[in-house]
Amino acid sequence: MTAIRSSDGSHLSSELIRRFVELTPESSGDPFAAMLYHVRSLRRSAGTLDLNSLLQHRKIYSVRKIADPHVDAFIEPLGSGFHHGFKLTVNGTKPDVRIRFSIAHEICHTFFYELVPEIKLHPHLQDEMEERLCNVGAAELLLPAAELRKVSSELPPSFSSLDALCSQYSVSSEAMIIQLRNLGIWPCELSFWARDDEGQFTMERFAGWRKANWQWVDLNLLSRVWAKGEGSEEWGRSAVYFEGSNDLSYAKWLYYAARRQGKSIVALWSRRPLGKPSQPLLDAPGGILRPRACGSVALGAELGTGADGRAFAPETSRGIFMRRTRSRRAQGGGEFARAVAGRRRTQPSLPARSYATPPMYRLQ
Ligand SMILES: [Zn+2]
Repeated sequence: MTAIRSSDGSHLSSELIRRFVELTPESSGDPFAAMLYHVRSLRRSAGTLDLNSLLQHRKIYSVRKIADPHVDAFIEPLGSGFHHGFKLTVNGTKPDVRIRFSIAHEICHTFFYELVPEIKLHPHLQDEMEERLCNVGAAELLLPAAELRKVSSELPPSFSSLDALCSQYSVSSEAMIIQLRNLGIWPCELSFWARDDEGQFTMERFAGWRKANWQWVDLNLLSRVWAKGEGSEEWGRSAVYFEGSNDLSYAKWLYYAARRQGKSIVALWSRRPLGKPSQPLLDAPGGILRPRACGSVALGAELGTGADGRAFAPETSRGIFMRRTRSRRAQGGGEFARAVAGRRRTQPSLPARSYATPPMYRLQ
């Protein structure tokens, strides 16, 4: 079986994906390019973004809504060939934006049935890469790259911009942020923080470069936003960090906007200043017209080991890292280290694991 390497570096070896790519000459051997090709062709031939029309175009003739909490959606062939069509089952209790994404995802599965019926129309295991490709295809179907680039280029990254885009395309803010990041338009990440009965916040969801157990250096930030009431926002610059393994901690400075939204605080953050209506960033040096991958931080992968055997963040790190040691000699650090040290003093109830030995932080 031939191994295929996709544009995101994954090794692919399933027969299904290999056939899918082979039968899409426009893909240049890249399964993601193959999926995007089929999605764009579908949009062109359908001439619409309307999901009902797209379902018809892909021979999905019936839609059944169920309320099974374990199901998002699935399609079933109506016969022994692609031309017989499909029926779609979808969990109707999910939010509309989630249902739309699930339907778009299922539409993308039909490309596999059409091109590789000898596998898809027979009993087969779920193919992880097929699922990833269908997610990418769904994002492209709901949020066409060219159009989104045009529309969003006039919008600085902010909650009001995000709201406007989500409402225009009827997608969730997470789906929108992921597509804006993938396209290099907004180098932002989005995190959702749930508040417990004692007023403590923990991150429940994250859309962006890589999820980590991020915590705010400014312990009061989320509580401040919460106290302002529903819909209120706070803007500023702060840092987040997480405790890694081997006594290492990682941190990065960021620009943030945080908003109270129902039972959560939602935080939009970026290494670049976020846009405000009075301060568009489009013309700023390094602004969103010249995007660079945010997130920057290759975290563990980018860490090396110093001559003294301790891990450190090399100069090539694009985020701000800190080193945690058990030695007071390492103290120094500056503002960030003081902020972290202050955190320890003001929050004695934090997990013992992190603070059993007073940690010292040092900026690299
Ligand atoms: Zn699927």
